Amino acid sequence: MSTVFNWQLGRDMEYPYDAAYPDWQFAFVFNINRCIGCQSCTMACKSTWTFSRGQENMWWNNVETKPYGGYPHHWDVKTLDLLEKANPGGQTWKGTPKDLKAPYGEFKGQTVFEAAKAHISDEGANRVLGYLPTDEEWSAPNRFEDNPVGNEKGAKGQLAFKGGELLPEHKTWFFYLARICNHCTHPACLAACPRNAIYKRPEDGIVLVDQERCRGYRKCMEACPYKKTLYRGTTRTSEKCIACFPRIEGRDQQHGGLPMQTRCMAACVGHIRLQGLVQINKDGAWKEDRYNPLYYLIHVARVALPLYPQFGTEPNGYYIPPRWVPRPYLKQMFGPGVDAAIERYTVPDRELLAVLQLFGKDARICFRYEIKEGPKIFEATVRGKKFEMFDDTIIGYAKDGTKIIETKVEEPFHVRDAKHANSI
Ligand code: SF4
Ligand code: SF4
Repeated sequence: MSTVFNWQLGRDMEYPYDAAYPDWQFAFVFNINRCIGCQSCTMACKSTWTFSRGQENMWWNNVETKPYGGYPHHWDVKTLDLLEKANPGGQTWKGTPKDLKAPYGEFKGQTVFEAAKAHISDEGANRVLGYLPTDEEWSAPNRFEDNPVGNEKGAKGQLAFKGGELLPEHKTWFFYLARICNHCTHPACLAACPRNAIYKRPEDGIVLVDQERCRGYRKCMEACPYKKTLYRGTTRTSEKCIACFPRIEGRDQQHGGLPMQTRCMAACVGHIRLQGLVQINKDGAWKEDRYNPLYYLIHVARVALPLYPQFGTEPNGYYIPPRWVPRPYLKQMFGPGVDAAIERYTVPDRELLAVLQLFGKDARICFRYEIKEGPKIFEATVRGKKFEMFDDTIIGYAKDGTKIIETKVEEPFHVRDAKHANSI
């Protein structure tokens, strides 16, 4: 095993290969507070990449209803359980958050790579602690859709599932968790493949399966803690999200060579998604890029948090946590940054409110933003804090500096002409 630095854990960790980082990294932020579970993202992906024979159960993008839903069924609980059994009572975080190298403090537990050593089978030690889901677990992609939880008389031992955290008038809760492959910095799928068929592209960090090399051993499926590689029986190979790489490369004819967001991002009607590319230093840290919207949301405002960072793969998918969900549940899912993230999102400052307007505005990737200040239009006290709203203008630029977005904080109000009152 080699040692690599994982900034999400605030420490070095063991990994089967030496550290190697791309120049740019594919990354995204999903704002859970806005997701309506419409599955437009899921169908945009399915109709683009996985509509062929053998891909019937293949959902590179899925949206599951938490806490019960999951595809495959209970994927996260099962991996958390394996880790807990490998390191009973030890999966904890400590220390105070600091700079870019440990923004959530330090994870004291074991990752899927570190916990694997304790699991020796007849074939020897696995490189990654994981499990292979059953056919039954892959069979129903949206089981438990819209099933709520949180009845005050909940089952014994389910304290974390009690009433909504910020919405005491609602006793029950659920939320939609949209998921794709996280194109991890330290991918478990890649670490586990005995054929070296999985690789991470140096130009954008996208993780791909070489279909010529893959023999369908499904070690990647067993290892990925997010269960985002899928097996195709007709070709006997594994397949996974390819991050719509022709669009990322600017090869889609629609937008004249400019990098475009993936199909699932561009199709999102809830405007919950913002996807981009961030620059990576030689040591794996994010290069300071203050006005890249992803850099701002993740490293400056710190409202967007990684999904299950304790697994150790350094996922590049980040989520703005839902305000109404009990905190212990959210902290298990997004780590110790949850309280601060929800506080900032609930009473956003001027810059955050403006940056949130960039979501879903254009299919091209926004690499930089600037804000032109406007007048104050509203003020109030929210949860004991002063909240001010300014009608600022936010402008987004593509990689080559082309202006692709210009929008205001206050949404325009259109009054339909009386003669068109009933027309669309
Ligand atoms: S989410 Fe899973 S499939 Fe995707 S890169 Fe990470 S380990 Fe690999
Ligand atoms: S398209 Fe957007 S709003 Fe609809 S389910 Fe997908 S992520 Fe949620």
